[in-house]
Amino acid sequence: MEDLRKEIENADMVLVGISEFFDLGEPSIELGIVSEVLREEEADWLIVPVMEAANDSLERNLAALTKLAEQIKKKNCFIVSLAQSEYVANIDWREGRLVMPNGRAVFAQCSEACEKSEIESLNDTQIDKMHELCSGFVKNLQTIQSVVNESAVKIPLPEEVQRAMRLIQMREQIRGEVQSLKEQATKLLGKCPCCGAQRVLNVVQAKHYDQRGYQKKWEFYSKWLYGSMSRKLLLLRLGGNHSQIGLLREPFEKIAELNPQAKLIAQNDENVNDWLENV
Ligand SMILES: [Zn+2]
Repeated sequence: MEDLRKEIENADMVLVGISEFFDLGEPSIELGIVSEVLREEEADWLIVPVMEAANDSLERNLAALTKLAEQIKKKNCFIVSLAQSEYVANIDWREGRLVMPNGRAVFAQCSEACEKSEIESLNDTQIDKMHELCSGFVKNLQTIQSVVNESAVKIPLPEEVQRAMRLIQMREQIRGEVQSLKEQATKLLGKCPCCGAQRVLNVVQAKHYDQRGYQKKWEFYSKWLYGSMSRKLLLLRLGGNHSQIGLLREPFEKIAELNPQAKLIAQNDENVNDWLENV
């Protein structure tokens, strides 16, 4: 086990990469079919608050990241989070040093990303309501998934056929829940005042993701990173070994390669919480 405290102390700068694992955690429902149905219903943009509501290890993730935030707060640090959950954004990171290129589930944008529109934070009432909707959704899904898994088909049929029937039945019930969630969430977000299109959450899963939400911060991050090239930079990659897009794994490896004074510590999704708890 690396002595992280010592590594942090020795570094001039610290860069932390937080993977999507921190959105997913240990989900209390099966998310595979849910995300498929969300996509079919053009409601992909709701996956983040749904994951947050279903994340059974949220408390644990929060505690682990909070502990890290305290340790690096006085350092010249930056945090790049591919996770989009609000709890990650609300951690007491060093002021102005968190960038979330995949967006955040408590900001709304025009679904067409029209030029004049602005990205706006939801107000507290809307945030609470969105949490309430998604928690209700997750609860209903738990019921659907457990009932469908238990219900036996009366007629003797081969096990595969029974299973296929159960899955079809489950999918249709999930669709009903997704449609109802989408309807209520769209009502909550309202229309774009500039073009009248529906507003959606400002997340990368939106059909037209409005990247202005993080751009300025990203420019600042790029400059910061450029300035790290001749310094002792500590890179902490928290999860992301299963991530496909090269926002964390490849860039972190490349930075470590280019800067002879950099040190990369990479943790996989499977053990990142254990590791953070023990450092
Ligand atoms: Zn618009």
